[in-house]
This record gives sequence, C-alpha cells and structure tokens, in this order.
Amino acid sequence: MEKSDRLPSYDLYIGGRWVPSSGPERFPTFNPFTRQPWATISQADASDVASAIAAARHAYETTWRGTSGLERGRLLFKLADLVDGSAERIGNLETTDNGKVIRETTGQARYLARVLRFYAGYADKLWGKVIPLDRGDVFDYAALEPLGVVGLIIAWNSPMAMLGNKAAAALAAGNCVVVKPSEHASVTTLEFCKLVEEAGFPAGVFNVVTGDARTGDALAKAEGLDKISFTGSGTAGRLVAAAAGRTLTPVIMELGGKSPNIIFADADLKKASTGAFAGIFGATGQTCIAGSRLLVQRIVYDEVVTHIVERAPAIRLGDPRMAETEMGTVANEPQFNRIMDYIGSAKSEGATLMTGGGRATGEALGDGLFIQPTVFAEVRNDMRLAQEEIFGPVLAIIPFDTEEEAITIANGTSYGLASGIWTQDINRAMRVSRAMRSGLVWINTYRAVAAQMPFGGVKDSGFGRERGEEGLMEFMTAKNVMINYSDDERDPFAIQT
Ligand code: NAD
Repeated sequence: MEKSDRLPSYDLYIGGRWVPSSGPERFPTFNPFTRQPWATISQADASDVASAIAAARHAYETTWRGTSGLERGRLLFKLADLVDGSAERIGNLETTDNGKVIRETTGQARYLARVLRFYAGYADKLWGKVIPLDRGDVFDYAALEPLGVVGLIIAWNSPMAMLGNKAAAALAAGNCVVVKPSEHASVTTLEFCKLVEEAGFPAGVFNVVTGDARTGDALAKAEGLDKISFTGSGTAGRLVAAAAGRTLTPVIMELGGKSPNIIFADADLKKASTGAFAGIFGATGQTCIAGSRLLVQRIVYDEVVTHIVERAPAIRLGDPRMAETEMGTVANEPQFNRIMDYIGSAKSEGATLMTGGGRATGEALGDGLFIQPTVFAEVRNDMRLAQEEIFGPVLAIIPFDTEEEAITIANGTSYGLASGIWTQDINRAMRVSRAMRSGLVWINTYRAVAAQMPFGGVKDSGFGRERGEEGLMEFMTAKNVMINYSDDERDPFAIQT
C-alpha cells in the first residue's frame, strides 16, 4: 500500500510483490456509512490475471509442491496468530469498507484465525489410504495430492470468512492460490497479504488480483487453473461456471439462498422468535444464509408476528464502528437500490407491510446507506418477495397449518442453502430435517456456523462444500498407485482384476 493524494492506494499482490496493474485504471472503494471514498484499488486485467497464475504456478512447482505438510501447517498456524493479533484492525477496516457492525467483522477476523488453525492441523495428516484389492499379489494405494493452482472469487458481504474457508483449505492441501476479492470490499484481503508475507509463506503461494466483474471474468476464462471456487450471486456464478467449462476447469459454487425458518406451535416461542429475528436482521440481512422466509404455524402466528414486529424498530442502527450498534448500513449503493426495489415490489404484490419499508434516516445515521428493519406478513410463497434473494433486512412471514404444508412451502423455491426448524418434538425435528432440500439444517438455532461443519447448498444455491473436511477435499485429488509384485507374466488379452 502507498499513499497517493490523500487516500491509501493498493496495488496487486503477485509473486510476493506489490505490483501496479498493467493498465492505468483504478477505482475508489466507498465507506457506506460516510458515503465517501476511502481507498483506491487497482483494476486488474487479463494480463495481470495471467501473471498472477504464472507466479502461483511457479511457486507451486518450485517450492510449495515440495513443502512438507508439517511446514505448511506451521506457516498456517503462524498466520493464524498474526490474524488474531490484528483482528481488531482487520475488523475496523472491514467495517469501513462494507458497513458491517464491528462486533461481526472483528468476529469474522477471529473466525479467519480459527479456520486457519483448523486446516493447519490437517496439513501433515493428508495420507490417503491403502486399498486391499481382490488379488493378493498387488499393493494398491490412493495418495491425496493437491490440485495445483486454484482461483478464489469472493463476494463483499463476509470477505474474511470466505477467504478463510477457501484459502486456508487450499493452502493446507498444498495448492497455490489467486484470490479475486469483491470490488466493493477488497481492502482486508489486500491487508491479509502483509500477514501472509510476515508469516513467511514463499512468494507466489498467495496472490491477489483486484477489480470488478471484468477481473473475475478474466480469472474464470484463464488457462492454467486447476479449480475455481466462487462465492456470489447465481447470475455471476452461472457465467463463471460457463466460462470455466470452456477450459474444463472444475468449479465450486457457493451461491445465494432464500432460506426458510420454520416455527411450529410447540416451539419455545421466545427462543424461536429471537432466532428468527437474528436470522434476518443479523448482518443487516446481507448473508447468504439469512432466514428470509419465516414460516409460522397459524395457531401461534399472531404471537410470533407481534413479537418480531414490536422488536424490529428497536434495533439500534448507527455508526457500524461503534460497539453498541446492532445493525449497520447496507454495503454499497447498488445493493441499497436493489433492496429498495424489492420492498417497493413487495408492497405492490399485496404483502402486508408490518414495519419498516423505507430508508432509515436520523442524525446518528448521517448520509449512510441504512434501511429500516422491514417485516412483511401474510406473504404467499409464490410472491417475488418469497422467491427471490433480497440480501437485506427484509423478512417475509408466511403462515402454514400442517407439517406437510410447511415442508412444501420450505422446499418451494429454487434455492437450497439453509433451513431452520423450531420445535420441541424431536420426532418432528428429525422428520422435517430429513425432508429439507438444503445443505444446512438448524434445529432450535439459526445462523450458527463453525470451521468443522461442511457448508454449502443444493439446487440454485450451488454445489461443492466449504469448511470441514469436505472443504479440504475439494482442493485435493486422489492418485491411485497399483504395484504388482507377482512373479507371473500376464495374459495380454485377459482383463486383470
Ligand atoms: P456477485 O455475484 O455480484 O459478485 C461476487 C464476485 O464475483 C465478486 O468478486 C465479483 O466481482 C465477481 N463477479 C461478478 N460478475 C462476474 C462475472 N461475470 N465473472 C466473474 N466474476 C464475476 O455477488 P455479490 O453481490 O458480491 O455477493 C452477494 C451474493 O453472494 C449473494 O447472492 C449471496 O447469497 C452470495 N453469497 C453466497 C455465500 C455462500 O457461501 N453460499 C456467501 C456469501 C455470499
């Protein structure tokens, strides 16, 4: 980073060096609370992307591929300590960049350290397996090997968590990476490079190219990648998958959601309402796992709706850097406009607006991109409000009568990322969780995640998994080796089993 004019300005991080992009284009990154630009970022083009992939390939072939798991683990543990030591600074930078409240961004920086440690512990334990075959005169084993060079494309809402999920697993598995953060929130990923360097990773193992969709597109189309892990919208995900298909580069897709949170009448209603509340208003609703559809059994419908509607206006909106703030801004102007459009169309679709429904203003909010916590009731599942991901603090409450009806509504969107079930009946909890077509199910909790849990979706929410052992295996491949120790000469025309 260098100071140019009055704003900090960031170059690309390629091959262990800060390098300017090959073209002159730069863009400002905005603080969504002040609406002012606060740093400038380089726009990388296809030639910069190619340089980053070449640097990663060189590092892979010359050092990282031959680096022991013990050493990879040591570097990752060291990096985790450095991230922990910088968690508050990273949290502050993230809050400045994407407007998420400081308690969440600092928590995500600590999560990044946690996930680095989780995968660091695996790095020297990736030993594949010996496979007994039908014949006694061969020895067969499947070795786990890294893929090589992987591209990681990241969204703006939780950059540190996504970076941890993707990069920690990829590096522990022995890959080199090229990261493309979101144009709306690049700074923490760039600052992370300094910690990677300080930890002592060889140059070229970790590279960052910044820029907008054009840079992402260049990465998706590039030759020389062994996998792309993408987090973002379904629209961009489809384009990335199609581009990667041309070079037969495999992809992981972590896409959006329209997750149902189902409250049955027998649930502990206080806990369930709080869980539903946290599921949509946490992170200003800008999370892929937001419980944006709340399904409530009709007998307790009024009670739950009243609880949520009374509580929503009391959420403390304000400067996201202040510890007491509960809901920050929307992260950027396009997203703000999108949410406001959805609110407008929900009103015209006939959903009942119970609270919110507009821009939040006030002295403490300045010019910030705030949206009132918004609740619509009597929503039908076929409304746009119930079908499309809004990615903001907008809750759609849908009544249901029976368990079967709840399951049909819950599964009745194109998405399949997460589901929540609130009930005290264990049999029902198990039945409904089996019926959910989603990658994650929470029972009597919501939006709780951990480094150990496999995370990802089905249907339009994507494929592939992050976190957990599954997340590590996405960045490895099995190489089977068969050793023949029979003294017999084979019959050249018979199949050998
Ligand atoms: P986005 O799809 O607009 O952008 C995501 C990333 O892709 C950015 O880095 C962007 O520059 C890049 N990109 C955009 N168009 C591209 C193209 N044509 N080719 C290549 N790259 C391109 O998404 P966003 O607005 O940054 O993030 C919000 C979305 O991300 C939501 O849909 C949300 O649900 C999803 N998300 C999913 C998860 C998950 O784990 N499933 C987590 C967080 C966010």
